[in-house]
Amino acid sequence: MVELKTKASIDAMYEAGQVVARALTAVREAAGVGVSLLELDEVARNVLREAGADSPFLGYRPAFAPTAFPAVVCASVNDAIVHGIPTRYRLRDGDLVSIDCGAQLGGWAGDSAISFTVGRPRAADVRLIETAESALAAGIGAAVAGNRVGDIAHAVGAVCRAGGYGVPDGFGGHGVGRHMHEDPPVPNEGRPGRGMRLRPGMVLAIEPMLIASGRDDYHAAPDGWTLKTNDGSRAAHVEHTVAITEDGPRILTER
Ligand code: MG
Ligand code: MG
Repeated sequence: MVELKTKASIDAMYEAGQVVARALTAVREAAGVGVSLLELDEVARNVLREAGADSPFLGYRPAFAPTAFPAVVCASVNDAIVHGIPTRYRLRDGDLVSIDCGAQLGGWAGDSAISFTVGRPRAADVRLIETAESALAAGIGAAVAGNRVGDIAHAVGAVCRAGGYGVPDGFGGHGVGRHMHEDPPVPNEGRPGRGMRLRPGMVLAIEPMLIASGRDDYHAAPDGWTLKTNDGSRAAHVEHTVAITEDGPRILTER
């Protein structure tokens, strides 16, 4: 079931979304060559704590996971697409990092992710990240009342494919509300005009995931969480929580 949120509820969700936005900004500022993924998780923990927010990531254990998630961010480096567990790994020159973070505040959830490079960037990574951001913008642009979920999925996937990138099947966006993961699923590829009708008050996480090589296949690392590309090529992942309103899409996790 999809709960339609009131204007007041969307305003409350914006507050949760802004905690996530601040956490991601702080992580990005703290990231650099020699900084560990655990240190980045600590930066996000501090932002959540100061805001009085809880983490929907910490202790999360969906059906596929062998263990409860131990951190407040996912940190996915280079060939890791999503769901990377922060470790003692220290970032190296030229690494491509995706950080995903959530917050729970006042009974509402927010969910957002960024990709960025550390040190001297590779041109190919810059193009990959820019395309991910363009795909996200296209998806948000399609998040208007009267459209359907398939219009968002199509908009996201078309930008990814036009760039020559792979789109891992089986993971994508979702509804957001009192919980981080709600209905409906929002795939990263789809057919326009298909799927659930978008109505004012729906809140969706839109989250393109792109594989540089153009292949779509991936596997879980031995930790059971981290999804990695099968060919070792790099991946990017960006995400916003977006409300569908009478006035168009409102990005609740805007930075
Ligand atoms: Mg996320
Ligand atoms: Mg999400």
